[in-house]
Amino acid sequence: MPTFRNLPSVDRLIQAARATLNNEAPASLLRHAARAELEAARVALRADGDASAGPPALETLTERVRARVAAALQPSLRPLINASGVIIQTNLGRAPLSQAALQAMARVGAGYSNLEYDLASGERGSRHVHLEALLARLSGAEAAIAVNNNAAAIYLVLGALAAGREVVVSRGQAVEIGGGFRIPDVLRASGASLVEVGTTNRTYAHDYAAAVGAQTALLMRVHSSNFRLLGFVHETSVAELAALGQARGVPVLDDLGSGTLLPTAPYGLAAEPMVQESVASGADLVAFSGDKLLGGPQAGLIVGRRALVERLRRHPLARALRVDKTTIAGLEATLRSYERGQAHVEIPVWQMISAPLAGLHARADALASRLVAAGVSAEPVACQSAVGGGSLPGETLPSAGVAIHPGSVGAPQLAALLRTSEPAVIGRINEGRLLLDLRTVFPADDEALAVCLLAALVKG
Ligand SMILES: *Cc1c(COP(=O)(O)O)cnc(C)c1O
Repeated sequence: MPTFRNLPSVDRLIQAARATLNNEAPASLLRHAARAELEAARVALRADGDASAGPPALETLTERVRARVAAALQPSLRPLINASGVIIQTNLGRAPLSQAALQAMARVGAGYSNLEYDLASGERGSRHVHLEALLARLSGAEAAIAVNNNAAAIYLVLGALAAGREVVVSRGQAVEIGGGFRIPDVLRASGASLVEVGTTNRTYAHDYAAAVGAQTALLMRVHSSNFRLLGFVHETSVAELAALGQARGVPVLDDLGSGTLLPTAPYGLAAEPMVQESVASGADLVAFSGDKLLGGPQAGLIVGRRALVERLRRHPLARALRVDKTTIAGLEATLRSYERGQAHVEIPVWQMISAPLAGLHARADALASRLVAAGVSAEPVACQSAVGGGSLPGETLPSAGVAIHPGSVGAPQLAALLRTSEPAVIGRINEGRLLLDLRTVFPADDEALAVCLLAALVKG
């Protein structure tokens, strides 16, 4: 087709694009982008039967190559401003890490460490020792192990202790947590079989007792995490399960999901189950996430009886699911904040949960004034934040934010615009307005948030 000949050569296009990129792009990337754009132009010409439009001008192709290279040069994973009001947002990376955790991770990650080296003997050590004593002190359990995440923790416990045998779970707790993590599926994948007892809304200790037999490997309790049953409901307590387990020689696994080492009630929230309580109630193994209410890096923590934790450590899956040195460093620093009694001041998740409402209102007022002064239709509003991460379903914290009237642009369009700003800003749409909840915005990001909003609203 003659029009193809009117397209520039790859080299000509690279030369033109390089000039617009201040020579900053790697040559291989530039070549890749130029080839891709020329190929796209050929496809478009072929699709356009009579080639009426002709090939794109060199400037057009150059701009497309520049844009393609610029997009490829941006980090794929990058920070953003979470103004959604959901503190532990799985899609947005869950818990932001404390300064102490970040420093520990950087220090250990940048060099060598005694990860699996015993400095006293000069012999091979175990990566499991670094967190165990700390976790034992904080939880009251005898032993502990950390793995990749809580899903891995559950998988490891089931695979190591229940493969080929039965696990008794309340019908109301055979749930899907989210992200495709379904208790019945995980059980099956681990080689254990699920024995459901009770009914969706009510399960009693005698339901479990009737199901325990020679094949029973575990009694399992699962925190319902992201939903709440209300009304005519009965769950069997961990203490009741522990009593039954002890009488019948069957260990109890408590999957707390988020779990928490700090009580949530002082912050006006319902009581999220605490790790220490579960251990004290007699659960033999307690599993919880590192990056939900604990506020640390992604991990799954299992605390409990020494003999059982030893079996987990020796299982081949433990090697497959192990955590790396930076995770251990971050977890250790995070846990030390709890031991010092400073978790609520040092750990961002708890800073956000405990942020006084008056301070949030003052920030919302300041941001709204700034937007209004620039001609934006915005106002400070009271709103509700959520803790998220499968903890405290249905519970909210009173908060403050800014509502923006999007005018003719429309709220979805405005939200989309903010997602493309740098950094991206994630808000939520509420009654046709874009709502930005300041509880989940770091005060240090208020300025960047204002700048992004003004830029987007001018564009919009
Ligand atoms: C979140 C959750 C999990 C999975 O934990 P991850 O750390 O995301 O792997 C498992 N069980 C419950 C009850 C949960 O809430």
